[in-house]
Amino acid sequence: MNKLLILAVEDDVPVLNLITTTLKAQGYRFLSAQTGEAAVMETASHNPDIVLLDLGLPDLDGIEVIRRIRSWSNVPIIVISARSEDTDKIDALDAGADDYLTKPFSVEELLARLRVTQRRLALMQGAGAQESVYQNGELKIDYASGCAYFGGEELHLTPIEYKLLCLLAKNTGKVLTHKYITQSVWGSNWENDVASLRVFMATLRKKLEKGSGSTRYIQTHIGVGYRMLRVE
Ligand code: CA
Repeated sequence: MNKLLILAVEDDVPVLNLITTTLKAQGYRFLSAQTGEAAVMETASHNPDIVLLDLGLPDLDGIEVIRRIRSWSNVPIIVISARSEDTDKIDALDAGADDYLTKPFSVEELLARLRVTQRRLALMQGAGAQESVYQNGELKIDYASGCAYFGGEELHLTPIEYKLLCLLAKNTGKVLTHKYITQSVWGSNWENDVASLRVFMATLRKKLEKGSGSTRYIQTHIGVGYRMLRVE
């Protein structure tokens, strides 16, 4: 299962070494690049399964690297950013990145992100993405009838809660930013909608929490957005 090919893009050599040593120890295959141009080239020529991308590169802006890769590829991209690059991290997710790691990060965090992405990858490659019924742990969504169930019981959701749940479900494993969610659900990117989003998310969770607790399903990324996790 660990035979995936990972492209690690990082200009800080000690950090790059930490990443590649970790990948090697876990049996992943890997490539590395230290510039944005090299990252785009390696992605095009070797078609990696996952890209780990540092946002602060010497030549190209990391966001530009994501845009270039996204113009032809859906490869999952996990960005690596310093704490001072918080807005960059959100821009990176909006440009099409799937997840992020904040420096300094531990080996465990890196591996956890890779596992989440690997599950997302399996979902993207399997038939799951096209199916009319979504099943994740005790959560089930029947897209055709527009009904959602938890633990076999129908959830009584408002149209907006249902839309939110479907959006999260269809992007299981991917961190969705506040902006992306408000644009998709309300068709706007009005900053104030983030406050409404929190309210809707809180009531949606309360409805899911009847079972075993929605924190296992919907993860909050403070100041960034939300993610649906795949539950084993
Ligand atoms: Ca850097």
